[in-house]
Amino acid sequence: MKAMVLNRPADVSAQPLSLRDCPVPVPGPGQVRIAVHACGVCRTDLHIVEGDLPPHTLPIIPGHMVIGHIDTLGDGCPHRFLQQRVGVGWLASTCGQCGFCRTGRENLCPAARFTGYDLDGGYASYLIADAGYIYTIPDQFADLQAAPLLCAGIIGYRSLQRANVPPGGTVALYGFGSAAHLILQIVRHRGCQACVVTRSRSHQHLARDLGAVWAGENPEDLPGPADAAILFAPAGPLVPPALKNLRPGGTLSLAGIHMSPIPQLDYHQHLYHERELRSTMNNTREDTRHLLAEAAQAGVQAHIQTYDLQDANRALADMKASRFDGTAVLVPV
Ligand SMILES: [Zn+2]
Ligand SMILES: [Zn+2]
Repeated sequence: MKAMVLNRPADVSAQPLSLRDCPVPVPGPGQVRIAVHACGVCRTDLHIVEGDLPPHTLPIIPGHMVIGHIDTLGDGCPHRFLQQRVGVGWLASTCGQCGFCRTGRENLCPAARFTGYDLDGGYASYLIADAGYIYTIPDQFADLQAAPLLCAGIIGYRSLQRANVPPGGTVALYGFGSAAHLILQIVRHRGCQACVVTRSRSHQHLARDLGAVWAGENPEDLPGPADAAILFAPAGPLVPPALKNLRPGGTLSLAGIHMSPIPQLDYHQHLYHERELRSTMNNTREDTRHLLAEAAQAGVQAHIQTYDLQDANRALADMKASRFDGTAVLVPV
């Protein structure tokens, strides 16, 4: 099979992923093999490929927003799974036994393993997944439309839940890439308002098209304080202004797995008045099922830019430079 393999992390301009012919993987007990139809490109992939996240294992095939169909079953998998269209996300497995797993917080499991980081992912014609960590995709989403939901959608959804937006409230979104453009549509569906801070003119246009009441470059220009905020950009310097722009009792939810250094906070300017700062780590399987159901109800439409699988380096470079709106999706050829 064809796969884009990372042997050694490097700046994406050095094309660290190389196209390889790899053996088609064979599923073990409790696993399924999935023939990949589409795989979304996540900012986390960029952090893995460039080494911002230390490698867990090398070589590795990245990719954790995967849509495909099950073409082979490992021992113990129900026969009805065969040929089903499914999705695979970042959470590849958890221990099922630790205090976090037993209390509905498997996203915090210290033994969790991740697709495209601990296990080979979807930048390939096939991948192996644990049968307990795959998701049925609502029929209304075509493959290319569904792929972005599997991480951008899920992590955006979890960070939205953690932002505690009050009914009818206003949420400020900082950064407007893959996750934010999906979550804005959920925010609107819930009857809340969104303001968007992003440097990219094109992203500002898309935000307004999708119903943002305001979109601009500078946090200082926001039309007023927000009830809640989500920081999608991995930019620590945005944390103080985002906190300052919150109403009393507001929450700033950090969506990223990686963040550049956060400047010093001032207690009175940034945190007092019961403002809260919360991070988001991974997701639970329940988050995924809730996101897929609510995205279907809201009729969420992903804006996508498709690339052939072998152009994965270019897709990552284009994402890094904000050269497209929405989510890049790789298609095996
Ligand atoms: Zn656990
Ligand atoms: Zn991701």
